[in-house]
Amino acid sequence: ASFFPGIKELPPDPLFGLKARYTADSRADKVDLGIGAYRDENGKPWILPAVRQAEAKLVASPDYNHEYLSIGGYEPFVKEAAKIILGEDSLAIKEGRIVSQQSLSGTGALHLTGLFLKTFYSGEHTIYLSKPTWANHNQIFTSVGFKVESYPYWNNETKSLDLDGFLNAIRSAPKKSVFLLHACAHNPTGLDPTQSQWTTILKELDNNNHLVLFDSAYQGFASGNLEKDGFAIRHAINDKLINSPIIICQSFAKNCGMYGERVGAVHVITPPGATGEAVAPVLRAIKSQLNKIIRSELSNPPAYGAKIVAAILSDKDLKKQWQDDLTTMSSRIIKMRHSLRDLLTNELKTPGNWDHIVNQTGMFSFTGLTPEMVARLEEKHGVYLVSSGRASVAGLNEGNINKVAQAIDEVVR
Ligand code: PMP
Repeated sequence: ASFFPGIKELPPDPLFGLKARYTADSRADKVDLGIGAYRDENGKPWILPAVRQAEAKLVASPDYNHEYLSIGGYEPFVKEAAKIILGEDSLAIKEGRIVSQQSLSGTGALHLTGLFLKTFYSGEHTIYLSKPTWANHNQIFTSVGFKVESYPYWNNETKSLDLDGFLNAIRSAPKKSVFLLHACAHNPTGLDPTQSQWTTILKELDNNNHLVLFDSAYQGFASGNLEKDGFAIRHAINDKLINSPIIICQSFAKNCGMYGERVGAVHVITPPGATGEAVAPVLRAIKSQLNKIIRSELSNPPAYGAKIVAAILSDKDLKKQWQDDLTTMSSRIIKMRHSLRDLLTNELKTPGNWDHIVNQTGMFSFTGLTPEMVARLEEKHGVYLVSSGRASVAGLNEGNINKVAQAIDEVVR
């Protein structure tokens, strides 16, 4: 103990702790609505057909090997990843205002961004996170020395966006602060701004010279449509709404179902104005500094998942298959939302209004269940969700949805 004075054991991570309790539960009809990972109609993890096909193709290739990647990552992957998030005809790509670095999935992208900004950003080292947000945001940015603040987002009474609160926070934050925005499928609320609300939010951010950091962990997963889910980012860039740099942290964990392979990227987009050769030296400098951080943290990014995703994105047929897979996942989730709402509202006549379940988007529903109700769901019914009341809708299927609806009905009454 003298070597590590004062060291204390921490409680388990809330989400992974929940997973451990679920695993230890011996009830046959237990239901996992905790971790945000897609499950098929049988409640099983799903390997996307596009991924299976890309894997077969990759392994059969005479060039297949397990060599190190370069520090920047797998070049075909980062190039295609940029095109997927920004769109083929993106102004930023056309004007040569983008630099990309492969990262350890979305989490590594956020961490790398935090380290980069901490060293090089001339503005405020304060990051504003939505209230509520994915719990790890707080941890990641605190760990790199950022001050963490929050902006109002979810109005619990109306179960809708607190736009006025959000805009006020943008105005009262010190100029040139960093604002983290969920690009789509907000975690945990499942509530996204409308397109016109996005315009208002982005203009206000620009008026106050804040740096916009988009966290894109669910593109294609929310609506099934890559373009629709990329709206906020593409709107900010192509309509030149933001005159500061924009940073995008991109994950392929959910939309390719490659959770454990850690496929992601950071894209830094310089402001409109300087293009081509005029901005190239800055981009090269940014790239070299990102490379330097990666070199000391991971030496070089993991290859396997990046090669699979690159294979999908650069092949017309595989890309088409992937788009079908996105539709399969998103439409099954949307169907489960409707079934759950209908069971609660029409069949069980559970007290309260449950329409928010169908109005929310992406992996999660912020159910409005209290921590006490959630605890009772777990103890009495073996239905597991996080205490905030966030339910991973992907955990629902035809085989368990009646049970879940009845359990919710019981704890609400
Ligand atoms: N951002 C958000 C909002 C998320 O929900 C997640 C995953 N839960 C991530 C980033 C990062 O995920 P990963 O590191 O697995 O890509």
